[in-house]
Amino acid sequence: MEGLSNCAQAPVSNLAENKRSELAEVIDEPSRSSELWGDWKWQLKNRITTLEEISELIQLTKREEEGIKRATGRLAMAITPYFFSLIDRNDPKCPIRKQAIPRIEEFSVSSCELVDPCGEDSHSPTSGLVHRYPDRALLIVTDSCAMYCRYCTRRRMVGEELPPMSMERFKEAVKYLKSKKTIRDVLISGGDPLMMKTEVLEQYIKELRALPHIEIIRLGTRVPVTLPMRVNAELVNMLKKYHPLYLSLHFSHPREITPEVVKSCGMLADAGIPLGSQTVLLRGINDRPVVMKKLMQELLKIRVRPYYLYQCDLAIGTNHFRTPVSVGINIMEELRGHTTGYAVPTFVIDAPGGGGKIPVAPTYLISQAKNKATLRNYENKIFNYMEPATIP
Ligand code: SF4
Repeated sequence: MEGLSNCAQAPVSNLAENKRSELAEVIDEPSRSSELWGDWKWQLKNRITTLEEISELIQLTKREEEGIKRATGRLAMAITPYFFSLIDRNDPKCPIRKQAIPRIEEFSVSSCELVDPCGEDSHSPTSGLVHRYPDRALLIVTDSCAMYCRYCTRRRMVGEELPPMSMERFKEAVKYLKSKKTIRDVLISGGDPLMMKTEVLEQYIKELRALPHIEIIRLGTRVPVTLPMRVNAELVNMLKKYHPLYLSLHFSHPREITPEVVKSCGMLADAGIPLGSQTVLLRGINDRPVVMKKLMQELLKIRVRPYYLYQCDLAIGTNHFRTPVSVGINIMEELRGHTTGYAVPTFVIDAPGGGGKIPVAPTYLISQAKNKATLRNYENKIFNYMEPATIP
């Protein structure tokens, strides 16, 4: 932080140069023990956002160079120094790198791809509120994230870094929620709600908690993974006042589970916040059963329960990330029965156009007759389950 305030007096070109050399120095520091590294505001201020900055740190491929040049405006490149440090800089196929650095493939649009793949905009009664299912609603409070995932399904609205939802708009949403007594669960998402100031986020959570029919509040966030130092005592102490409150985290690869992430998830779990993880199935990143199993098992070790495995949505420019559905089914086949049930998420396809999440699984029920069901287990052994006799 001090370094930055000194830089503030320097001419713009020097500022950029200073930032680059400071970044290179801190990223390369093996102990990562510097005060700057653990300061989430420093991490945000020093996100890698330009071709010049990143070129000093890594040898880019031609496709990446072109991708970065074209990824301007919404969902432009932004990588925290922390997340960047997880990249294997000698490996163009590094799974962390593919998630964070734009490639030219993002700009080839397939005819089946959709601007709003989950049909959220058509289910929005007030600005920022999505009411798609009878008993739950989604509140989109900000368009900012710590790092912009290149496969983001909300790319239509994420990354302009506009001010968060105003209190005025929030009150409109609350008015709607008050009028819908069937809604018992509100998911606060974005962008990433943990990008907001703690006191602003608290105001929103507090108002929601005051509605008697809202039984649970959930926060959808990737910040504990891409900016784990944001999870500090101030944030955790605020969150734990509003139980039952759940966090839906977003992990993509076992390499994301670092000592920093172990700490951030540990603090949240110690505060009694149930942690779940949603993972998007991504080509060349986590589409091998061995990688997915490792991720799921590592998550349980840090008290994060794998929750959903998503087939990658048909968001514009994501064809290079998508796998055939059979790849996900095969992964589920390799998980169920082969590891702890807690480590097995539900594989779902969010139906294009707003049909909601549809579970997809290997077939274990081979046939169903009047008096018996024939099943196969994870070892492909066949079993019969006798149905109950008719009760007169
Ligand atoms: S954190 Fe979530 S909302 Fe933000 S860019 Fe990644 S996928 Fe999109």
